[in-house]
Amino acid sequence: MLKKMTNPLSVSAIALSLLMSACSSDSSKSEAASESTAKNVVQATSTKTPDFDYKLEPKQVSENVWCLFGALEMPTKENGGNMSNNCYIKTKDTWVLWDTGASYVYAKQAYAAMSKIADLPVKTILLSHEHDDHWLGNNYYKEVHGSNIVGPESINQNYHTGDITRMFRVLSENAIRGTKIIKVDEWHDESIKFNIGGVDFEYVPVGNGHSVSDYFLYMPKEKVIFAGDLVMNGRVTSNRDGSVLGEIAAIEKMNTKDWTTMIPGHGFIIDKTAADEAMQYFTLTRDRVQAAMDDGVDSTGIVEAVPLEEFKDKKMYDILNSLNISRAYLEFDMGLPEHKVEH
Ligand SMILES: [Zn+2]
Repeated sequence: MLKKMTNPLSVSAIALSLLMSACSSDSSKSEAASESTAKNVVQATSTKTPDFDYKLEPKQVSENVWCLFGALEMPTKENGGNMSNNCYIKTKDTWVLWDTGASYVYAKQAYAAMSKIADLPVKTILLSHEHDDHWLGNNYYKEVHGSNIVGPESINQNYHTGDITRMFRVLSENAIRGTKIIKVDEWHDESIKFNIGGVDFEYVPVGNGHSVSDYFLYMPKEKVIFAGDLVMNGRVTSNRDGSVLGEIAAIEKMNTKDWTTMIPGHGFIIDKTAADEAMQYFTLTRDRVQAAMDDGVDSTGIVEAVPLEEFKDKKMYDILNSLNISRAYLEFDMGLPEHKVEH
């Protein structure tokens, strides 16, 4: 495990003081004054406010599975990044986790809530994909439980200790405190089947679906599928790193499994209709963007030509639909653009 962490407090103090001096219009400020400013910043950030209270309420979705469902929103200071879904799976003597949420504080509170249901350690974590609302809780479980983290190799390639990802930029200090980017311990390019504490699992890679490297998790006996962000419902997806054709193929692949419960990465519908919205969104996008292109519509007209009005009342339509349509145009015009990591 990597232990070469720089103290995040001193980093944020330095960054803040640099920012403050960069913003200052008073160039006559003395060295001493800026030194004392730096000290004040350190003192201010050291004074502990209580941790952000996520008010987590696990919901039981199957005999041995509980999930924490997040808001259908972008991450904000107000929601503390609690806007994605993650789940706890009870086995004989440990918990297995599907994703870990948006921060150390979130993960700590999720475990506190779940340990009331069963006082078991978290020994295995399986991750859906690299977007940071799904795995920044990892270091809580690594530090406190010594969990083995299984996820996409792309996390190790694209995220490094000290990177200022979206959650670090957006969340308040009392929500993001303690959060560190750590490495995934194990990754798999092929589907793997395994048993932990009497429970069978299958962890399946689908390549570039919603992100550069997506996985789903299947529990054959319980007929539960954890879809990660390959499936969302109640809101429009963010296809910023995704592939329309990859998404359709991934949903088709999940549908080859015998399942009765599906947990979306975002959204609350978990019954047999869980994937319907996502399938409709991506097939309509494919068909209409291609039809518009056949009619000669170019990149400047594509958003207007494909409004996907069926989804206009879904959450986040205004923010995300036009971006998704523009990206679909690129995909069908030139192929998927090279993966650009946007933290
Ligand atoms: Zn995502």
